Amino acid sequence: HAKDNGRDTYHFFASSMNVDALARMELHGSLRKAVKNNEFVLHYQPQIDIASGTVVGMEALVRWRRPDQGLLAPGRFIALAEESGLIVPIGEWVLNEACRQAVAWQQAGMAALPVAVNLSAQQFKRGDILDTVRSALRQSGLHPALLELELTESLLLNDTAAVMETLHELKRIGVQLSIDDFGTGYSSLAYLKRLDVDKLKIDQSFVRDVPGAAEGAAIVKAIVQLGHALQLTVIAEGVETQAQLDFLHAQGCDQAQGYLVSRPVPADEFAVLAAELM
Ligand code: C2E
Ligand code: MG
Ligand code: MG
Ligand code: MG
Repeated sequence: HAKDNGRDTYHFFASSMNVDALARMELHGSLRKAVKNNEFVLHYQPQIDIASGTVVGMEALVRWRRPDQGLLAPGRFIALAEESGLIVPIGEWVLNEACRQAVAWQQAGMAALPVAVNLSAQQFKRGDILDTVRSALRQSGLHPALLELELTESLLLNDTAAVMETLHELKRIGVQLSIDDFGTGYSSLAYLKRLDVDKLKIDQSFVRDVPGAAEGAAIVKAIVQLGHALQLTVIAEGVETQAQLDFLHAQGCDQAQGYLVSRPVPADEFAVLAAELM
């Protein structure tokens, strides 16, 4: 009967909401423990110079080694980490670990390559990002120019005086700044004028469309031209095919990152990969 069905539906939604809320609370609790117990690991994805094919840097990407659940990608926990503020201690660990690893590689004889680390807006709002960066550099001994901080457009759009001042101070420390997922946020190009950024990362949603779709190709072309007009390095994310790489090369895009070269890999594998790509 319709009435019974209605009641069943009501019960279904009510109980599924409870399950969702419970799952979130459980995840939050586990994430808090993960911070305490150091359950995170970094994988590294190479970035190549398109013209020469050689490795010119890497991006550090966090994973959660969740007990009994294997390795969790950031898509499974970063949003909750941001909402709950846990991104502040997680982000601090990421910065420290990436800097430590970069110096360990140099000491093992690898050519000095910059390491890129993703920052969340919450690290500016709730955390003391300046202090965190200074301390990661000091403790590791990493040269500031070898640390690149990836910012999102939403952070830059947030352009309060405090955020702008912090970013200027980061530049004074000597680290590199890049804009991640460029072109996907509410683009305000104004910040490019006010802020001394070093690199634009073309979002993979545009790269996916080339060389086939005219719109994607036009956007990629325009970002490369804009970046170069502003004397910025331009890197394409999510490069999966040789045809995409050829198109990017033809457009004069400087660097590429994507599965075509390698997926993000654990530190020991990265060392082997980098040696092959030198
Ligand atoms: P992102 O910074 O834009 O990183 C690039 C993402 O694209 C990575 O996903 C990478 O594995 C993936 N990727 C790279 N090449 C390809 C490709 O050729 N094809 C496809 N389909 N994907 C590719 P991942 O590692 O799952 O990270 C997802 C996002 O999580 C990152 O996007 C970043 O926004 C965030 N994230 C990762 N690590 C951290 C971190 O330490 N802190 C913060 N705040 N966010 C992080
Ligand atoms: Mg990134
Ligand atoms: Mg990106
Ligand atoms: Mg510059």
